[in-house]
Amino acid sequence: MVLTYKSYLLEFKHPFGVSSNVRTHTPTVFVRIEYNGFFGYGEACLPAYLGETPENTIAFLEKVKPVIDALDFSFDVKEVFQTIDLLSETNNAAKASIDIALTDLAGKISGTPYYDKMGFGKSVPVSTSATIGIDNAEMLAQKIQEAGDFSILKIKAGTSDDKALIQLIRQHTDKPLYVDVNQGWKDKHFVLDMLHWFKEQDVILVEQPMPVEMFSEMAWVTEKSPIPTIADESVKRLKDLEKIKGVFTGINIKLMKSAGLTGALEMVQYARKNNLEIMLGCMAESSCGTSAMAQLLKFADYVDLDAPNLITNDPFKGITYNGGKVILNDSPGIGVELVNTVLFQ
Ligand code: MG
Repeated sequence: MVLTYKSYLLEFKHPFGVSSNVRTHTPTVFVRIEYNGFFGYGEACLPAYLGETPENTIAFLEKVKPVIDALDFSFDVKEVFQTIDLLSETNNAAKASIDIALTDLAGKISGTPYYDKMGFGKSVPVSTSATIGIDNAEMLAQKIQEAGDFSILKIKAGTSDDKALIQLIRQHTDKPLYVDVNQGWKDKHFVLDMLHWFKEQDVILVEQPMPVEMFSEMAWVTEKSPIPTIADESVKRLKDLEKIKGVFTGINIKLMKSAGLTGALEMVQYARKNNLEIMLGCMAESSCGTSAMAQLLKFADYVDLDAPNLITNDPFKGITYNGGKVILNDSPGIGVELVNTVLFQ
């Protein structure tokens, strides 16, 4: 096999604001694994807050390259993942890119979509939220209008006045909302008051209202909360799930945190066994990462996979959207096609 990779900048349609920063681009490293004329594709999407960079991702991929290049057609994705997982304590996005590319390659060699290969079957189309980043009043109105096809909006909050933000949103739409606070609130009594008020505003769930380390305060809030609380920054991989039982209602699983589909599926299985709700989410990824995650669509209570809709230079084609629903295709592997044919030249 031959592993190659390429650094790339995914460009946002509009500058993307969350509680801690605003950005216009997200660095990404795409990988390709070739075997006998088949190509498997993967992605390491690297928003700065994850602490992974194109440089340390490429350094990790260079470490992995001899392992991949030595594989033949009999490779087992899970076994390879377990080997490369031991090569670094971190680098979850880089590991994800390899896991996704091998999954894609295995499916392409056998001519089967991952969801069929795993016996899940193809999911019916499922509604995804459309993400609305923090912005001024005029841009918020424009973004809500641009998300007209979508039936649920995910509002990025954690501003100096989140009630005013939601009131402003409510001047433009009565769609149900997910609200992502990105750790923006610190007082548990304030949080609980806000969640009661959110319930009246048809907010369906809140994501990561408090900082990662505030476990006991968060457990107090969840116990009394009128709406589900979803852990995002508090949970990366399977090993993190034990400590959030009883602390949140559910978890937001993202491939760049879980280190790929192998890890994401383990988290899905754990969540199902332990009564945790499942949100399938993503970073500001291309259609490569999101199409991989959409293979698990059947298991989702909530879906937030609209990232390709927020960027202008997606080099892949994969999942599509119709009426705000994510549509899987019948293509093998993770169901992606490289449309930017010069990417790996
Ligand atoms: Mg989040």
